[in-house]
Amino acid sequence: MKGKIRHSWLTELLFEHEVLTAGQDAYRRPGGEITPATQQYDRAELLGSYQSSEPPRTFAAYRIILSQLFDAKRQRLFDLLAAEPVMRSATTEWSPRSSVTNANIARVLVPFVVKALEQSYEFNAPPVEFAPAAGFLGTYDSRHHKITLSPQLFGSSCKEFLDTLIHEEIHALQGELLALLNVQRRGRILTPVERAIAQYWKNEEPKYRSALAAGSQMSPDTKRRYLLIGQEFHAWTTGHFVASKLTGRS
Ligand SMILES: [Zn+2]
Repeated sequence: MKGKIRHSWLTELLFEHEVLTAGQDAYRRPGGEITPATQQYDRAELLGSYQSSEPPRTFAAYRIILSQLFDAKRQRLFDLLAAEPVMRSATTEWSPRSSVTNANIARVLVPFVVKALEQSYEFNAPPVEFAPAAGFLGTYDSRHHKITLSPQLFGSSCKEFLDTLIHEEIHALQGELLALLNVQRRGRILTPVERAIAQYWKNEEPKYRSALAAGSQMSPDTKRRYLLIGQEFHAWTTGHFVASKLTGRS
């Protein structure tokens, strides 16, 4: 979920697994023990050759494994989209002053982005509809396997539009991997590293659910904490990476 979130009391709920030293990867696990990052590194985690299906034990280790698993796919997504003539004209013609033009561009663009996501991440990327999304710029509905993007995005930059679309699609990818933790579907079995990542997400779900429940006006501090949620970190960094490279903006 991405965009404006409305109630600041949620800040508390969001971080029921209290972050002790922000950015230093020490946090209180659900069980209560405090795990300073420096004592928890596994050599394989640091070397980027993680093969275990055990979830990473720190946020730093999580980031390393996430890179190992998804950086090449993210790059491939960018390469596919950058090579798409429709994408090039869309980024040129998008105008913050013309929502109508942007709405048309967006509708043309979405199928290409969905297809490129399917090719690069090898998952069943959900279709997208445009409708007011309960105060959010975008939402992913796992039950109906669809993404809803707010028409508000037509008044925004092309970067923000692409960023939000990719962000929500990454949540759909996460949902698919999470579902595969328990079920064997169509013969697809998680690799050990995918299992490790998905289990990390699963372990975080209690606080992630709180984050989904509502939210707050995201202050920089709240956003920083929000990004410490594994799934949000993954969705935000992927959306930002691909969208800013495509539009030449950061
Ligand atoms: Zn999100």
